[in-house]
Amino acid sequence: MGRTGILLAVTGVLVLGASVYGAYVYTTLSADLSDSKQALQEETAQSGTLSKQLSEAKEYIARLEEALSNERNKNSVFENQIAKISGTVGVLEKLAKTDPELLAKYSKVFFLNENYSPPALSPIPEEYLYQKDRLLTLHAAVQPHLEELLDAAKEDDISLLIISAYRSFGTQTALKNSYRVTYGSGANTFSADQGYSEHQLGTTVDITTPAVGATFTGFDQTEAFKWLTENAWRYGFVLSYPKGNAYYQYEPWHWRFVGKDLARQLHRDEKYFYDLDQREIDEYLADIFD
Ligand SMILES: [Zn+2]
Repeated sequence: MGRTGILLAVTGVLVLGASVYGAYVYTTLSADLSDSKQALQEETAQSGTLSKQLSEAKEYIARLEEALSNERNKNSVFENQIAKISGTVGVLEKLAKTDPELLAKYSKVFFLNENYSPPALSPIPEEYLYQKDRLLTLHAAVQPHLEELLDAAKEDDISLLIISAYRSFGTQTALKNSYRVTYGSGANTFSADQGYSEHQLGTTVDITTPAVGATFTGFDQTEAFKWLTENAWRYGFVLSYPKGNAYYQYEPWHWRFVGKDLARQLHRDEKYFYDLDQREIDEYLADIFD
């Protein structure tokens, strides 16, 4: 073999080698590619499963949320119903406990049963009594309101003194008789039935001031009366028998507790208790002590 022959042989070997190597690389690469493709396919399949699971979970959550919100709505409807029912029960309970006599009209036209007496009585503090040695009492639920009124007046430098409060039917009758003895038949117009039934309720007081005392003469000209006219309603008290009323003689000293709501309403409308219909008045009964 000449030199050229050797060169050709070497080149041939090299070309063959390169071809074999290229084929090997190609085969390896295509195997890799196919592996990758398969992996990709598997992954895609897996991710399909995942996204399916995810969407199922989402649906499940949505259903739960809906169920939860339904339950919540049901609960709030239920709660509202409970609140409504217990509200009604509250009003009914109050009405059952609240004596309808407390807001009934009494005067020489309307009478209270002689057997009536308040369920409980509380004493009026001695400092507010006109006669310190005479115990005066008031309906136990009204007494705190009177005390509030008296304290407020005191803060405004108005001296109010209670001269009469709860009077039983018996006391009233005795008082009436004593007036009759003193004044004869004229007692009927002066004081025979003075605050007859309203004092028996235990919600009513006769108020005076030191300068005027027990005769009440000119009480409606005093600062005390002015203060009462401007402020008593805030504590639930109203003047029962104003000047010129159709039911009774004018009694500027005689104040009856009717509850804050009704007293405020009367004050606002510039009306008196006896101006209203009993039916209208009774709407305030349940909340009389609020
Ligand atoms: Zn009176």
